[in-house]
Amino acid sequence: MSDDWINFRKDPQHIAREKAKARQLRKSRWWKEQLARGVCHYCGKTFPPEELTMDHVVPIARGGKSVKGNLAPCCKSCNNEKKYLTPAEILLKKLKQTQGGQEDETDS
Ligand SMILES: [Zn+2]
Repeated sequence: MSDDWINFRKDPQHIAREKAKARQLRKSRWWKEQLARGVCHYCGKTFPPEELTMDHVVPIARGGKSVKGNLAPCCKSCNNEKKYLTPAEILLKKLKQTQGGQEDETDS
């Protein structure tokens, strides 16, 4: 399994740099304000700050950067669902779900 990093074509320097920047921003007043507001960027629900994580809207591994416009508070369940997808891919996934997923809805 020594060759899987080649397929991903990640730039390790980019990832290290952007992760370091994200760590800095996590300590910033701006980020604390985001947490204080407590709104998940994806589902729009409100959470206590400890339930929210810092999410890259475009993941670092996909070329995203640690800038305010690309960072958003994200609840744990949205974070799990999103993983490495880009916003366009999430939209596509949602479209597929709404087309096929009517049976999930129960009135219990
Ligand atoms: Zn959410």
